This record gives sequence, structure tokens and C-alpha cells, in this order.
Amino acid sequence: MSKGTLFVISAPSGTGKGTIVSRILADDPSVHFSVSATTRGPREGETDGVNYYFITREEFSGLIESGGMLEYAEFCGNFYGTPKKPVFDNLLAGHDVILEIETVGAMKVKKACPEAVGIFILPPSLYELRRRLEKRATDPEEVISARVAQAKSEIEKSYQYDYVVVNDDLEKAVADVKTVMKAAKNMTKTNKETIEGVLLKC
Ligand code: 5GP
Repeated sequence: MSKGTLFVISAPSGTGKGTIVSRILADDPSVHFSVSATTRGPREGETDGVNYYFITREEFSGLIESGGMLEYAEFCGNFYGTPKKPVFDNLLAGHDVILEIETVGAMKVKKACPEAVGIFILPPSLYELRRRLEKRATDPEEVISARVAQAKSEIEKSYQYDYVVVNDDLEKAVADVKTVMKAAKNMTKTNKETIEGVLLKC
């Protein structure tokens, strides 16, 4: 059985990453979404074990110490991490796996698993991102400015990803991510074992 491909998807908040990932998962149930562990509390509508595993700081430290995390990072005062076992179990079973994580964790995954494929979702512009955050009208001006500044520093790291997709139009962005995922199945770095297998059969 051929191994699945590990996809790491990052994007600044307000870029529509969650919606895009939900669409990909709904359209292809064989893709496994990695449920992260976090020390932040659940938001309205979030379910433990579906959106995140909501755990205490002590439980989080325990997972790190036992080697159970593929990566972890601190983001806005909370810890977020990827439980290792379900990722590798699914890859070995031939399923593609999506990690929806921030840039520091993404770079750690890239180091630990060089064959992972990084996709960065971009807003059309920082101006448009600010406009979207203002339209939500959930945050005061200083919070919006801080989010835009955070987005800028995250976008500066997008050069380190394999692909970028601009979310100007949702349907096009979903189609582009699907195209990228398909193309990634034929990248040299995701096919090292295939190449070795061909060379062995002489
Ligand atoms: P939120 O609290 O808004 O759900 O997530 C905050 C940030 O943490 C987002 O950028 C999200 O992608 C990222 N994140 C979620 N899970 C993980 C994880 O397991 N590891 C890392 N490094 N970041 C994560």
C-alpha cells in the first residue's frame, strides 16, 4: 500500500483557511484532518475531540515529555500541538493527512518530515484582510491592527512553503488547493520510495 501525503496548511487568521479545509474534507472523506491539542478554552460551537483536544497545561507538558507531539508552538499565550500517533497511523494506512497549524509549528514539521508539503493561504492583500476583520466587527481597532501586524509577519514566512494559494474567491481557492494537493502526489520529494522501488525491480 502506498503511503499518504502529509499536508501542512497555514494562513493568517481571517484568510478563510478553516472554510477551505472544511470543504476539502467534505469533498474527500479519505483525507484525515489532524485534531490538535490546545491549552486554550473551547469557543462557542467547538467540540472536544472534533475541533481540538482541549487539555490542561500539565497534560500538554506530559504529552511533550512522553514524545507524543510531532510539533508544538505557543500562539497568543496558548499552546497548540499535533499528536504524533494519529498522523503516522493514517499516513501508513495510505491516507493523506492535513495539519492546519501556524508557521512556527509548520517549520518544525518541515524539519522533522522533509517530504511534508506546505501550502500557505494568502489574503488578496493586507488592506483586504483589515477590511474583512473590520467587517466582522468583533474586535476593537487596536486588536485588528495587532492581527494585521501578526498576519504580515506570518505572510513573510510564506516563502518557505511549497505552494501559495490566494483566497480572493472561495470557490477558486478551494479548487486551487485541490489542484495543489493532486500535483503534490507527483512531487519528487513525496515519491522517494516509489523511485527506490522502481530502481530495485531490475
Ligand atoms: P485558533 O485558536 O484560532 O483556533 O488557532 C490559533 C492558531 O493556532 C492558528 O493559526 C492555528 O492554525 C494554529 N494551530 C492550531 N493547531 C495547531 C497545532 O497543532 N500546532 C501549531 N503549531 N499550531 C496550531
